[in-house]
Amino acid sequence: PAYTKDDIRQMAKDENVKFLRLMFTDLFGTIKNVEVPISQLGKLLDNKLMFDGSSIDGFVRIEESDMYLYPDLSTWMIFPWSTERGKIARVICEVYTPDGKPFEGDPRNNLIRVLSDMRKAGFTDFNIGPEPEFFLFKMDENGKPTTELNDKGSYFDMAPMDLGENCRREIVLTLEEMGFDVEAAHHEVAPGQHEIDFKYADALTAADNIQTFKLVVKTVARKYGLYATFMPKPLAGINGSGMHLNMSLFHDKGNAFYDPKGEMELSEDAYHFLGGLLKHARSFTAICNPIVNSYKRLVPGYEAPVYVAWSGSNRSPLIRVPSSRGLSTRLELRSVDPAANPYLAIAAVLEAGLDGLRNQLAPREAVDRNIYRMDAEERQENHITNLPDTLHNALKDLAADDVMRNAMGSHLYQSFIEAKNLEYNSYRTQVSQWERDQYLELY
Ligand code: ADP
Ligand code: GLU
Ligand code: MG
Ligand code: MG
Repeated sequence: PAYTKDDIRQMAKDENVKFLRLMFTDLFGTIKNVEVPISQLGKLLDNKLMFDGSSIDGFVRIEESDMYLYPDLSTWMIFPWSTERGKIARVICEVYTPDGKPFEGDPRNNLIRVLSDMRKAGFTDFNIGPEPEFFLFKMDENGKPTTELNDKGSYFDMAPMDLGENCRREIVLTLEEMGFDVEAAHHEVAPGQHEIDFKYADALTAADNIQTFKLVVKTVARKYGLYATFMPKPLAGINGSGMHLNMSLFHDKGNAFYDPKGEMELSEDAYHFLGGLLKHARSFTAICNPIVNSYKRLVPGYEAPVYVAWSGSNRSPLIRVPSSRGLSTRLELRSVDPAANPYLAIAAVLEAGLDGLRNQLAPREAVDRNIYRMDAEERQENHITNLPDTLHNALKDLAADDVMRNAMGSHLYQSFIEAKNLEYNSYRTQVSQWERDQYLELY
């Protein structure tokens, strides 16, 4: 909602708000909170609230540590679970430098920049409908997560198999109290796995929503003695967790992807955008699947994509065109996982799509067969490439794509590649239990 400063002062007073939680997101997608007492509200509303940026990983160097938080007033919200002493309100902020410029290392600022390029290209909104999946694990006596699942349920199962149901229901109610429009909530294919879908929104709101969503899921799960994780593949041998992104561009006249006279009732813009997504699919993978573990999910057999292709009918490819048309005409990108920083992932796919529009890239033909049943030769004949199979290979593709540099801006692009290479190297030099089990006695 478009709140004024006075609205905020009034709501804080009426609702007895005692603390302000100022939220922003770092390079790795982690939500950062600076909590201040309500006495700081005036300062915050005047964009005068300072914090030390050097305390945040991958943010700034010590020499440039003074940063300011500018609140986005439309994101003001009072948490439903506030304490007895008074309530806690949160507001999402943009990070600014002391000379009043948007800080380039702030992923939210970066998305705002890419969205303004989109407007220059003649569109009004980039709409995103995310489908985040997560697991609920039991916790031990010390409140540490275990890898013990809390149920044996499966897709769309109901109680008594689905013991996570009460927890999921409270998550949904809490989200609704916070203004979310929840469209569906169900058990997913794997035991202990759930999905909650909320209505699509413009890119910036959708990214904010994803961050708030994760916070709510984790907070409510704890109340039930459960640990909610968005790790993409917590257990081998069963499905991992994705966060499919449904996307569409809107202009003054409505959904720019819809054309009742077009092939499959899709517009030229839709095909060009799709062409851009396919062209840059390998290079945005490191952004949409940013951790070592992400690549344990992108393997055949678990409903996660492995190959770069699109289809109007089946779910195995990277991009699916769901059958709804009109306002709901959209592309569904199925590779993204919930470890992705939503601000960066959305900026990356938007820039890829805009590149497709600028250069009128045409997608290859749809692949309506099950790609997993093709052999390597057939895939080659159909020009189907695969997604990178490790974080290392994904980073090589990212580092070679200037369109992705534009999507992130040089500051974020360089810090991301540097940090993620370190992460991969740390993983690479470990020796795992699997290796000892396989080799210790054999050699
Ligand atoms: P699936 O077909 O993969 O099961 P769901 O029905 O679970 O998909 O999720 C559909 C998502 O797509 C919802 O978040 C919904 O709000 C969103 N959506 C609907 N129309 C659009 C649109 N025009 N642009 C972007 N997202 C949309
Ligand atoms: N869990 C699957 C994945 O890893 C997706 C299942 C679905 O189609 O919703 O992407
Ligand atoms: Mg799902
Ligand atoms: Mg889906």
